[in-house]
Amino acid sequence: MDQSSIKLQLPEAPRDFGFFVNGKTVPAGDREVFERHSPAHDVPVTRLPQCTAADLDDAVAAARTAFADRRWSGLSGADRAAVLLKAADGIRARLEEIAYWEALESGKPIAQLRGEVGGCVGMFEYAAGLARSLHGDSFNNLGEGMFGVVTREPVGVVGIITPWNFPFLILCERVPYVLASGNSIVAKPSEFTSASAVILGEILTEAGLPEGVFNVVTGIGATVGQAMAEHHDVDMLSFTGSTRTGRAIVAAAGASNFKKLGLELGGKNPQIVFADADLEDAADGVAFGIGFNGGQCCVSGARLIVEASVAEKFAQMVADKMAKITVGDPLDETTQIGAITTDAQNTTILGYIEQGKSEGAELVLGGDVMDMGAGQFIAPTIFGNVTRDMAIAREEIFGPVLTVTPFQTLDEAIEIANDTDYGLAASVWTKNIDKALTVTRRVQAGRFWVNTTLAGGPELPIGGFKQSGWGREAGAMGVEEYTQVKSTHIEIGKRNHWIG
Ligand code: NAD
Repeated sequence: MDQSSIKLQLPEAPRDFGFFVNGKTVPAGDREVFERHSPAHDVPVTRLPQCTAADLDDAVAAARTAFADRRWSGLSGADRAAVLLKAADGIRARLEEIAYWEALESGKPIAQLRGEVGGCVGMFEYAAGLARSLHGDSFNNLGEGMFGVVTREPVGVVGIITPWNFPFLILCERVPYVLASGNSIVAKPSEFTSASAVILGEILTEAGLPEGVFNVVTGIGATVGQAMAEHHDVDMLSFTGSTRTGRAIVAAAGASNFKKLGLELGGKNPQIVFADADLEDAADGVAFGIGFNGGQCCVSGARLIVEASVAEKFAQMVADKMAKITVGDPLDETTQIGAITTDAQNTTILGYIEQGKSEGAELVLGGDVMDMGAGQFIAPTIFGNVTRDMAIAREEIFGPVLTVTPFQTLDEAIEIANDTDYGLAASVWTKNIDKALTVTRRVQAGRFWVNTTLAGGPELPIGGFKQSGWGREAGAMGVEEYTQVKSTHIEIGKRNHWIG
């Protein structure tokens, strides 16, 4: 699609996407079609095939054939890097198109999406370097007669199941890293936001990725996703989504072929603010941490834990910031928060807001829907006087809802922060280095931010402690996770015989 033909207006008709197997887009044919309506505009925007378990079998078979004949895994790291770099160029060239369709499917603001898709270019470029630098280890200290070599090999056929909140970004935090070591992939994007995964298939083929190495099946989680988790010929599965579905994935992997799992699940992430912080910066950071993407981030800073001496003043500072967030049409360049992506999520968030009110928390800001004429929008919301036992403090809301809980001492702040089943991310705001280091050491979280929040990039690994998941994505670990380690002993010279 010509980039210059993309206008920031609603399409005249929904665009048909196929799914992607063996290097080619496959049209829906006589399969059922899922028509996605923009959550911001209530009009149909895309149509995608509902793949079946048989379609998944075909995609897995294509990936297996590609892996078995070594058309990709047999290439040098340099040759794989060349393809990943061309794919980065391909994403750059189609950035506007990807951002546009994702804005329509997800309700995210277009300006935010341009940043996200731009960040995906960096993922491919960084992973290209890792394709060349991936290496094992050697042991030259085993005596005159023995040499030891540790090599890394790709796992094989990797399934990737992704959610709707960052459709292209989450895919790109995995795909180039998984490809770097030579694996083949079958991806299953969320049924609500599948278009960008199919576009990525086209980009990879144009970049020279051999056919069958990257495949996309579209469809419903309970059918095609579950079938992927149960599949005997999928060697590893990277699942990103809710903790509830994560449990089903673990059970399915155990009941089938014990496929290796990477799990990135939910979060209920603390923002700890000390009285000595730069409160202006911290207020902006806390508002960003819960407002960005309408709070529909696994790493959203949903729990403000603030030193009691400044709690009231600081909550008001955050409220003043959040009241100024521009909520509206995702296709408007100035919008900061768009629509809530799914109907079910909208209902969930509004349910938690009602629960917060009935649990006795103080509604400081928002707490209601915003009427934009169409679509589903929820006002940035703050609840004060939230105690640790309240559901709004314990459960992942996945919306623009911040809870405020005061603390008296550093130990209490850490205790409140750790009082959760999750351990995905945390932020601390203080100008005191001792407090910052103590908190980062003692709070259980896979990602930490000091005097900032939601920062990221291709270099640092991501993943959770506790019930937020297993394994790490991105960074050098993001490649290593998708390899298996082989230890080889090599005898030098004549064997010392066991039988005389
Ligand atoms: P979800 O678990 O409902 O769905 C995620 C994906 O799993 C979708 O592609 C869905 O089709 C598929 N799926 C659903 N049921 C399945 C099954 N039985 N077997 C296999 N696949 C199945 O999650 P969601 O509502 O799309 O996303 C929101 C959740 O994702 C939140 O809990 C959020 O915290 C989490 N999330 C985590 C991260 C992270 O990196 N930790 C990132 C983004 C989202």
